Amino acid sequence: MDDEIRVSVSLPLDSDGFLRRECPTCEREFKWFSHDEGDTDAELADQYFCPLCGVSADTDSWWTPAQLDHAQGMAGPQIDQIVQDSMADMFKGAKNIEFKPNRNFSLDLPTPEPLHEPDDMVIVEPPCHPNEPVKVPEDSTGHIHCLICGEPFAA
Ligand SMILES: [Zn+2]
Ligand SMILES: [Zn+2]
Repeated sequence: MDDEIRVSVSLPLDSDGFLRRECPTCEREFKWFSHDEGDTDAELADQYFCPLCGVSADTDSWWTPAQLDHAQGMAGPQIDQIVQDSMADMFKGAKNIEFKPNRNFSLDLPTPEPLHEPDDMVIVEPPCHPNEPVKVPEDSTGHIHCLICGEPFAA
C-alpha cells in the first residue's frame, strides 16, 4: 500500500501572475513570478535567493504564514476523505461486518475561505535572469538580489 498521501492546494496569484512568498531568514514578504507548468522560460533551481536579504533557502521554504494556514485548512478535508475511503476498503474484505461510512467519524475540518492576493509591490527584473522577475515592496528596489543566482542589482 502506498502510504504517501498527496493533497493538492492551490494558492492565488496576483493579476500579474506573481505568488506571495516570505523569506525564512529576514521574514519579509516579496513575490516571485509563477511560471506555468512546463514553461521553458522557467529556471530550474534547487534553492532560491531572497531578493531582499540575499540569503538562499530550499525551494519549499518560502510559505507565508497565511499560505501555510490555508494549505492545512484545505488539506484537512481531503485527508479526512482519504481516511474514510481506506476504512471502507479495509472493511470490504471482511465477511459479516457491515461498514457504513459515518460522517460522525469525520475529523470535521472546515474548508477555509479562499485567499485573496492584492496587487501590491513593484516588478523588478534582474539583469542576469530577466525571465525570473520578482515583486518587492516599493521602498526596497534600491538593493535587490536575483532570485536564481543571488546577484545584487538596483532597479
Ligand atoms: Zn530575506
Ligand atoms: Zn541571476
